[in-house]
Amino acid sequence: MRFDNSYLQLPGRFYTELAPTPVSSPGPIRVNRELAEQLGIDAAWLASPEGTEVLAGNRLPAGAEPIATVYAGHQFGGWVPQLGDGRAILLGEVIAPDGLRFDIQLKGSGPTPYSRGGDGRAPLGPVLREYIVSEAMAAQGVPTTRSLGAVTTGDQVFREGAMPGAVLTRVAQSHIRIGTFQFFLARQDVDALRLLTDYVIERHYPAAAEAENPTVALLDAVVAGQASLLAQWQLLGFIHGVMNTDNMLLSGETIDYGPCAYMDTYHPDRVFSSIDHQGRYAYRNQPGIAHWNLARLAQALLPVMEVEEEKAVVLAQASIDVFPALFQRAYHSGMARKLGLAHTGDDDENLAEELLELMAREQVDFTLAFRRLSDLARPATRPGVGDLFEFPAAFDPWLERWQQRIADDPQASGERQARMYQANPAFIARNHLVEAAIDAAVNNDDFEPFNRLVDLLGKTCEYEPGLADYARPPQPDEVVSKTFCGT
Ligand code: AMP
Ligand code: MG
Repeated sequence: MRFDNSYLQLPGRFYTELAPTPVSSPGPIRVNRELAEQLGIDAAWLASPEGTEVLAGNRLPAGAEPIATVYAGHQFGGWVPQLGDGRAILLGEVIAPDGLRFDIQLKGSGPTPYSRGGDGRAPLGPVLREYIVSEAMAAQGVPTTRSLGAVTTGDQVFREGAMPGAVLTRVAQSHIRIGTFQFFLARQDVDALRLLTDYVIERHYPAAAEAENPTVALLDAVVAGQASLLAQWQLLGFIHGVMNTDNMLLSGETIDYGPCAYMDTYHPDRVFSSIDHQGRYAYRNQPGIAHWNLARLAQALLPVMEVEEEKAVVLAQASIDVFPALFQRAYHSGMARKLGLAHTGDDDENLAEELLELMAREQVDFTLAFRRLSDLARPATRPGVGDLFEFPAAFDPWLERWQQRIADDPQASGERQARMYQANPAFIARNHLVEAAIDAAVNNDDFEPFNRLVDLLGKTCEYEPGLADYARPPQPDEVVSKTFCGT
C-alpha cells in the first residue's frame, strides 16, 4: 500500500491518532483481488499471512498513519453531539494508478476515544453482510464504499450471545460525512468548517473551486450526487436501513451496510431494520430523508458561505430545494429504462405508478417482476426467469397497455430487451441468501456459500436456469423480515 495521507494535514481536533488493537489469531476470509489491483495494491501480498495480519490490525503497513476520525450526527432524527469512528481506524489514503484517492479503513479494529462504551468490534455476520452487499452494489454500478478484504479475529464478541469476531477493510473515496460538518457546527468552530469545506472541494469537487461561490457549488454537487444515488437505490429496491446523517458521505457513495436489505415482495412501506420501530427509514421515505439530511449539511455550510447570513440562507435553501426535482428526474428516467422505454412520454409516470400499485396489491417480487417484463419485451428468446415467475391475471390490462406503449417507442425489440436486462438485474443480494451465507460461516465455519454469493453478485451475469436458486424469491420458511446492524 503506497500511502499519501491528506486528512492528517487537518488540525488535531478532526481525529485522534491511534493504532488498531491487535486480535488473538487473524484468519483470512477473503481478499478482493480485483479491487486491490485497481488500488495498486499487490493482491498476493494482501492474501499472504502478512497481508492477513495487516487486515486484522495486528501489523501496520509501511506508510500507514492510523487515526480515528470524529463526527456527530442525527440518529433516527435525534441529535447526538459526538460520534466518531468508535470501531474503525483509518490506516491512511492510497492513490490508485488512475489517480483517484481512496481511504483504507479497518472496521471492527478495537475501541477508540469515540466508542462511547462499545467494544470497538464487529461480529462476523455483519462483516459478511457488508462485504456481500457493498460488492453487489458496486457490480450494479451504484456508488458505494467497497470491501477490500475480511478476516476473522479468533476472538469472540458479545451481542445477543457470543459470536465470532471479524474485521472488514473498507475502501471509500473518503469517509467524510454530513455528521463531520455537524460536529464542528455544533461547536461553532467556523475555522474547522472552512478547512473541511476547502478540503472536500479539493478532494472531491475541484470544479466547485472555480464557481462564484464555491461553498454553494459544493452543496449543489452533493445534492445532485445524493439525488442520483437515491434514485439508484429505489430502482433496485434497496433499503439502507440507517440513513442517519453520520451515514451519508460527501463523496456520494453509499456507506454503512448495517441492517440494509433488498426487498423481495414489493411494498413501499417495507422496513427491515430491527431498531426502526417507526419506519422512519422505510423504502418510500428514503428520498425524503436524504433531502432532510442535506438540509442539515446546508445548515452546517451557512457560516462558510461568506455572505450575510440572510443571503446565505436563501442560497442554501435554493440549493437543497432542487433535490426533489433532481431525484424525480433520475428516478423516472431510470424507471423508463426498467420499462424498456427509450423516450419518456406524458403518461409514463402513471404507467410506472400503476405497475407498482399492482405489485404491492398482488404482493409480487420486485426484482423478478421487472425481469419477467424484460423477457416479455421480445417473444421467445433465451431462457428467462419465466419458470420462476408469472404475472398474476390482475396484471393483464396493465401488460396490454405496456405492450401498446412499447410498440410506439422507437427501438428494435432485441435492443430494448438488452437494455431492460441491464436495468433489471436477475440477481440481487437476496436476504435469505445473505442469511444462509452468514449462517454457514458463523455456525459451521463454512465460507463456501459466502464466497459463491460474492463471486456471483460481483459480476453482472446473464440469467441461466442453473442459477435459478440465486434468482428465486425465498420460500415462505426462508423469508427474512428483520435485519440487525451488529453494533
Ligand atoms: P453505526 O450505527 O454503525 O453507524 O454506528 C453509529 C456509531 O456507533 C458510530 O460512531 C460507530 O463508530 C459507533 N459504534 C457502532 N458499533 C460500535 C461498537 N461495537 N463499539 C464502539 N462503537 C461502535
Ligand atoms: Mg455509521
